Amino acid sequence: MSPAYQTTPRTTPSRYRERAHYDSYTVHRILDEALFCHLGYVRDGGPVVLPTMHVRCGETLYIHGSTGSGPMLGARPAGLPVCVTATVVDGLVLARSAMHHSLNYRSVVVMGTARVVDEDAEKLCALHALLDHIRPGRAADCRTPNTRELAATAVLALGLVEVSAKVRQGGPVDDPEDRLLPHWAGVIPMSLAAGTPQPADDLDPATPLPQYLTGERRP
Ligand SMILES: Cc1cc2nc3c(=O)[nH]c(=O)nc-3n(C[C@H](O)[C@H](O)[C@H](O)COP(=O)(O)OP(=O)(O)OC[C@H]3O[C@@H](n4cnc5c(N)ncnc54)[C@H](O)[C@@H]3O)c2cc1C
Repeated sequence: MSPAYQTTPRTTPSRYRERAHYDSYTVHRILDEALFCHLGYVRDGGPVVLPTMHVRCGETLYIHGSTGSGPMLGARPAGLPVCVTATVVDGLVLARSAMHHSLNYRSVVVMGTARVVDEDAEKLCALHALLDHIRPGRAADCRTPNTRELAATAVLALGLVEVSAKVRQGGPVDDPEDRLLPHWAGVIPMSLAAGTPQPADDLDPATPLPQYLTGERRP
């Protein structure tokens, strides 16, 4: 049994509580499989939610962006209160009734105060991990950021402390009186898959496709 995150009033769903999970195994798997997340924060008194890449290193979630971007500016000097969500969609759930259509999904919500990573070593480590999150092996196969690029890039770190996962799986749950209706019902599985690598127009044709880009795709 993996360790569990402590539940708080903020991480307890009002509905379908039985679908909530707080064990680190479930949470880590979702965060590692999701290609990107949504970062929610308050700017000028109103909510903003931005899609962005992320990576989990142990019990820390890292997010990067331009030093001039909203969340990075907002995080100085005291950190930025955020809510980050990451989602993997596993299927379309088609019910006989309109009401009971749904998605099969695995999602994570993380709340907390994100801090700006100031130390170069941690920043570089997070940036490498972000690349490997996109495609394992990539970080070691590209030019490392130079001083100027590093200075223009900000990294936010968010501890996995106040965390919840929610998982919906299985078929549609129609009301008993609808079960004989003549509409098809069931699940259409969904997954995110990478296609065949397409070389850049200006790629030297002598550059071989690296091993780590062949074979199985994400996750
Ligand atoms: C891809 C996707 C599509 C969805 N579509 C719908 C939809 O169309 N309509 C709908 O009603 N619901 C939908 N949901 C579920 C939705 O995310 C909420 O769980 C749901 O609205 C019930 O919220 P609540 O009132 O229980 O949550 P609240 O009581 O508002 O939430 C309290 C806390 O519970 C936790 N929590 C709630 N939901 C989640 C979650 N999904 N993942 C992780 N932690 C969670 C969080 O910590 C949150 O702060 C969808 C979920 C996903 C992943």
